[in-house]
Amino acid sequence: MPSVWENPAESALLGQVIEPSRRALVGGRDGIVRGARGVVIDDCEWMVRAISLADEAARLGEVPVGAILLVPDATGAHGESRVFLARNEKETRPDPTAHAEMLALRAAAATLGTWRVGGTLYVTKEPCLMCAGAIVAARVQRLVYGCDDPKAGAAGSIIDAFGSAAANHHVVVEGGVEADAAAAQLRAFFAARRGERRGPPGPSVL
Ligand SMILES: [Zn+2]
Repeated sequence: MPSVWENPAESALLGQVIEPSRRALVGGRDGIVRGARGVVIDDCEWMVRAISLADEAARLGEVPVGAILLVPDATGAHGESRVFLARNEKETRPDPTAHAEMLALRAAAATLGTWRVGGTLYVTKEPCLMCAGAIVAARVQRLVYGCDDPKAGAAGSIIDAFGSAAANHHVVVEGGVEADAAAAQLRAFFAARRGERRGPPGPSVL
């Protein structure tokens, strides 16, 4: 499977156990240790990171969506987590299921050797119905997303896949983290794409 990273320094993080010093590298600039037991995990910092992954997707012509999955490492003595990073690659592959959330879950399952992935998934926008189903199936414990998706969101916008009584696994869902930045990113992408489709001004009809 090709790396989701172009930057070799960051590709080395894929699926690795993140030690406290490395967590600071991944998690942000303020030195808070991410993922350790008893330490507040800064959702906003992870979301900012996911938004930067979405930026990479946009540069490749993909709808900008980024995802980060943190899975506590059962063998880690100090509460380390493994981190899986992905961006939307639907056009690049091409694959209708290659949403950022799906790629993060697949990378985790392949690396951990289990479909029962668990952990916390950060994604820049409200997941679609396909991804919501996969998140439940993978037994993700907590979903944190950025902006709502009024057209396709399955965490309450068009349907609430996580609140269904039929779901055999309960996911804690928190939306609206860095929502303005995530929504602005999507708006800018679609505005730019509309501009490209219109192309340069044609000959005047006058
Ligand atoms: Zn999706």
